[in-house]
Amino acid sequence: MIKSLAALSPLHPPRPYIGRFAPSPTGPLHFGSLVSALASYLHAQHHNGTWLVRMEDLDPPREQTGAADAILRCLEAHQLQWDGAVLYQSQRLSAYEAVLDALRREELVYACDCTRQDLHAMGGIYNGRCRQRIIDLNQPHAWRLKLYDLPPAYAALESEVRFTDLLQGEQQQNLRRAAGDQILKRKDDLFAYQLAVVVDDIAQQVTHIIRGNDLLEVTARQIFFFRLLGAAVPAFGHVPLVLNAQGQKLSKQNLAPPLDNAKAGNNLWHALQFLGQNPPLVLQNASALEVLEWGKVHWDSRNLQPDNRSADN
Ligand code: GLU
Repeated sequence: MIKSLAALSPLHPPRPYIGRFAPSPTGPLHFGSLVSALASYLHAQHHNGTWLVRMEDLDPPREQTGAADAILRCLEAHQLQWDGAVLYQSQRLSAYEAVLDALRREELVYACDCTRQDLHAMGGIYNGRCRQRIIDLNQPHAWRLKLYDLPPAYAALESEVRFTDLLQGEQQQNLRRAAGDQILKRKDDLFAYQLAVVVDDIAQQVTHIIRGNDLLEVTARQIFFFRLLGAAVPAFGHVPLVLNAQGQKLSKQNLAPPLDNAKAGNNLWHALQFLGQNPPLVLQNASALEVLEWGKVHWDSRNLQPDNRSADN
């Protein structure tokens, strides 16, 4: 199984550019999501690449009815037209189960019944406690991926991960100290983002992941997982987050206002401005199509400032 995934994602070029935007349907898109979507779209266009949309609808308790459709309508209103069909992660459960099975056979995952309180007592980084314990599989349990001290066949995989982010530069993370073994399937039986995101990026042959800076922190563990599965590692670029007046990331949780589709052109203009592209003032009230056309012609990722900031600076 692990081998067949790798076949989808050969380690050697040529690999045509495939980018993607992967929203979770927990609410409508806000200005911060538009900034990430636009950067990923324009970067793909600039490379004559393919741009996919994947709906990460894996966590029903956190989802909002109608949000997936609202997100797609919002992308359309902003003329961010994706290639091919939208992939819904809720339709991919058997693929995730197959990968988990393969990992179990290789003893790369283990059952874990630790609670949130246990994790808290460990200082927030899981310390591998259940690697040594016998877990009653008839009771609720999660499945965790080993990120260090792997079985002999995988021992060569480095747990000290280094990579160069296209926008944030050189990165390094020690997975034992900074991440800990990761949950791939939760106690409530839902597959975790960390499993689905990598399995789907491999299945969709994604070569470039341009997304919000909040995910820089989890990139090293994802790179490790690509390597563990024998797949090519995509290039990563993390765009700055849009902060609100309190210095927090705009998010559905802190009630960032949804994008107004009637102002699509103006939203795109502001997103381009945030991304350092300096769109001409005359386009401020132009249509989405016109602003986007300008963006496609003039996109230059070197103008992007890496730091998170509010939209007005
Ligand atoms: N679905 C994730 C989110 O909305 C993004 C996943 C990704 O881009 O890797 O935060």
